[in-house]
Amino acid sequence: MVKIAVPNKGRLNGPVVELLNKAGIRVDSSRKLVSRYKDIEVLFVRTQDIPELVRDGAAELGITGLDLVEETGADVKVSLKLGFGRTRLVLAAPKNLGLRSPKDVKVGVKVATEFPKLTAKYFKQLGKKVEIVTVSGATEVTPYLGVADLIVDLVSTGTTLELNNLKIIDTIMDSEAVLISNKSYRNDNMAVSLSSVINAQSKRYIMVNVPRKNLAKVEKIIPGMQSPTVMDLADGNFVAVHSVVDEDKVFATIKKLKMIGCKDILVLPIERLVS
Ligand code: AMP
Repeated sequence: MVKIAVPNKGRLNGPVVELLNKAGIRVDSSRKLVSRYKDIEVLFVRTQDIPELVRDGAAELGITGLDLVEETGADVKVSLKLGFGRTRLVLAAPKNLGLRSPKDVKVGVKVATEFPKLTAKYFKQLGKKVEIVTVSGATEVTPYLGVADLIVDLVSTGTTLELNNLKIIDTIMDSEAVLISNKSYRNDNMAVSLSSVINAQSKRYIMVNVPRKNLAKVEKIIPGMQSPTVMDLADGNFVAVHSVVDEDKVFATIKKLKMIGCKDILVLPIERLVS
């Protein structure tokens, strides 16, 4: 039995449950604390508790934000970046302060954040002494309330900062959801399984009938992973070529294939891709 700790709610819960289901781990997301599937036990816990639970061995594996792993400083292994929950931790200031770079930050200012350790480390590296005010949410309103001069907070689109008249001065770290594991856990089955789903998401399987005389050209357009699969068609003039293409190149690829007389083009999703 292997235990994996995942967010019980919040912005990472939905994408994590979807990823596990796609990887064939049937997760019952009906707000249960534990969901069992075959030899995997999925524990639904608070996102911010996951790094420490994995460090302490309450679960061998966990999925959480890299920002939280860094903030807790938990000694765990980051096994895989999952490509969602992308965000960045930034230093932001009210626009009317006229700050343009971290160098303009005055010694002794108050900085509100939910990430006191990362903030302290950042200002230490800058060689600036500031006062850190730890908050547990709504960081962006603290300058307006007079609680702080600056903030360190997570942003994705920047809309919330804009709404609060704040401007980004510096990026402290980039973050996304990650698979973490206990330092003494050596099995990489989960990482392999999740990465096969992630790899497949950005790829498409393409099937096309190609005039035999243009086969060499087609092999250049859709080279695939090793090389494309080529099959004879009964009529002798055409061959069927199967290959894998990047999702964002599908449209351009189809155009090129049509220009050299290819027909009957099928594009299919891929469930898993293990390379
Ligand atoms: P939760 O508080 O459970 O909604 O999860 C917060 C985690 O979601 C953060 O630690 C980040 O890893 C991730 N995240 C992704 N985008 C954002 C964002 N724009 N604001 C806050 N957290 C984000």
